[in-house]
Amino acid sequence: MSVLDRFLRYVRYDTQSDERSTSCPSTAKQLLLLNDLAAELRALGAADAAVDEFGYVMATIPATTKKRGVPTIGFIAHVDTSPEMSGEGVRPIVHREYDGRDLVLPDDPSAVLRVADIPELADQMGHDIVTASGTTLLGADDKAGVAEIMTAAEYLLSHPERPHGAVRIAFTPDEEIGRGTQHFDVARFGAACAYTLDGGRGGELEIESFSADAMTLTFHGFNTHPGYAKGRMVNAIKIAAAFIDRLPRDAMSPETTDGGEGFVHPYVVQASVDRTSVKLIVRDFVTAALKDKEDLLERLARETVARWPGATLTIAIEEQYRNMKEVLDCHPVVIKNAHDAIRRTGLKVRTRPIRGGTDGSRLSFMGLPTPNLFAGEHNFHSRLEWVSRQDMEKAVDVIVELCAVWEETSRED
Ligand SMILES: [Zn+2]
Repeated sequence: MSVLDRFLRYVRYDTQSDERSTSCPSTAKQLLLLNDLAAELRALGAADAAVDEFGYVMATIPATTKKRGVPTIGFIAHVDTSPEMSGEGVRPIVHREYDGRDLVLPDDPSAVLRVADIPELADQMGHDIVTASGTTLLGADDKAGVAEIMTAAEYLLSHPERPHGAVRIAFTPDEEIGRGTQHFDVARFGAACAYTLDGGRGGELEIESFSADAMTLTFHGFNTHPGYAKGRMVNAIKIAAAFIDRLPRDAMSPETTDGGEGFVHPYVVQASVDRTSVKLIVRDFVTAALKDKEDLLERLARETVARWPGATLTIAIEEQYRNMKEVLDCHPVVIKNAHDAIRRTGLKVRTRPIRGGTDGSRLSFMGLPTPNLFAGEHNFHSRLEWVSRQDMEKAVDVIVELCAVWEETSRED
């Protein structure tokens, strides 16, 4: 079955994850696709394909090489879609032989993909573009990755004459809510390294992500009846507001930075007179620079509190994920082989730091070096999400070539 046909089938499953849920997977509907993927893998010949108690699918493509020194490598994609946009009743549309025309989505004619707004479309002339119909996301993030891995698995399992080492496959739930690796059993997966297929344009290879902390600053005041509060009340809401007003405005914020710059970003305030907490995320490509930003936030908060007698401050910092480059730098062959495989398919390698994290950021620090390969996804989490058939086909080729490169460059024993 072609990668396009698989993709069109998978996007019809509603697999939205839910951050308010405490179960794993966070939504039972993800299991419908996960179970079907395991069954499909078994039908293709991956006899051990199974779903574990947390919904993770793992399977093996047995080695075909005679060499004994070929490491096991893995490919990973997530099945869930973003809670930010409906994934129910997705109606995929294939726009054949794109020629630069506006792509109007029929269920909401105000949803239009224009090359003027989306420069990457200019690279897609003659390609078949898949979109949703205007009222939902498409789910190319990351069902493109799922379809690509499945199609490569079908190819490898039906071409035993192509030598490769053992290949492990995993499909995971709940990536979009930051829990995609919570129950990922790296030891059971048993690969020396892995590649997520969850990236953008053809040729992209992501080896660098943010390092990320969450910081909560809680301002403690004193509440009393406002009619009798003179000289006694200390209003934590006003203290928090004064602190927020002192945050850097022209720099160090998401709205004023890009490229290699980090930021601090307040995103939730829980307020009462007695106690107000400000939740921030702290991001930088250099892990040590997170500390500088946290020190700055602490200093601004302490200076603010000092001007409000009776107020106090508590601070909590939580590590979220780390720049995977710190791990991948110790495993250069993982990157080099990806470069070689991408070039073999005729594409130019594009590397670009991710201003965010991937499952690979966490997996790399759990002992499984995992860069991210392109899957052809564009306009993530949006009604204007799209993918091209040709990019998905290239991603399938890259997976197959990666297996070949690892085999060719490995020792005999
Ligand atoms: Zn994704």
